Amino acid sequence: MRIDVVTLFPDFIAQCAAFGVTGRAGERGLLSLHAWNPRDYAEGNYRRVDDRPFGGGPGMVMLIDPLRSAIHAARAAAPTPAPVVYMSPQGAPMTQAKVRELASLDRLILLCGRYEGVDERLIRAEVDEELSIGDYVLSGGELAAAVVVDAVARLQDGALNDAESALQDSFEADGLLDCPHYTRPVEHELGTVPAVLMSGNHAEIARWRRMQSLGRTWLRRPDLLDETALSPADRRLLEE
Ligand code: SAM
Repeated sequence: MRIDVVTLFPDFIAQCAAFGVTGRAGERGLLSLHAWNPRDYAEGNYRRVDDRPFGGGPGMVMLIDPLRSAIHAARAAAPTPAPVVYMSPQGAPMTQAKVRELASLDRLILLCGRYEGVDERLIRAEVDEELSIGDYVLSGGELAAAVVVDAVARLQDGALNDAESALQDSFEADGLLDCPHYTRPVEHELGTVPAVLMSGNHAEIARWRRMQSLGRTWLRRPDLLDETALSPADRRLLEE
């Protein structure tokens, strides 16, 4: 998969490709990440990328033309069509289902705003979708784009050493939260590992994990249960 990021801070995005699973996805040729700086397409000695808002008020607004040229350059860099996603607090909330959808694409262009945001006409003309990483306001879209890059990179086939692990994560398959995890030592001053996990009884372990997932979801995110089709066995576990 190829991701192009339009940003005033290309170094920030380059860092995403340097570490952990995202770095490995890059090394394995599963993900290529490219940054496009609208300043490189701005005119004049000062290479302006922003101006004051019409109607007055505080802050600056990103100019149409440098952004538009950067998006067009990103689009032209590869033959496959790429949707343009504007990272915005006003966008649809990002979910694991949306991440899966984006991860299945061959290409994606992420647009990062700064200041008060970008000229609305640019959004209407060039943007396919607006995506928010939560109900709070960041100073720029780069952190949000980095979140998308990370979440999408780990879903590329071969990025994780054990592909099964992603399927057991929270919000996956059945939409529940993941169960708790333990590792060595069995005995520790902070507590003991639940005995069932060392029983070797796979059916009992699976049942315990399912019960934990259901219980945690019920306690922490009951809204998720509304969207999950619970089996009769799940309902019995929840009642226990
Ligand atoms: N005036 C805008 C508003 O209230 O909707 C906020 C602009 S914000 C200071 C600057 C940029 O940060 C935005 O253009 C967007 O790209 C990015 N941004 C801020 N919060 C975000 C969020 N929750 N999710 C995604 N991007 C965000």
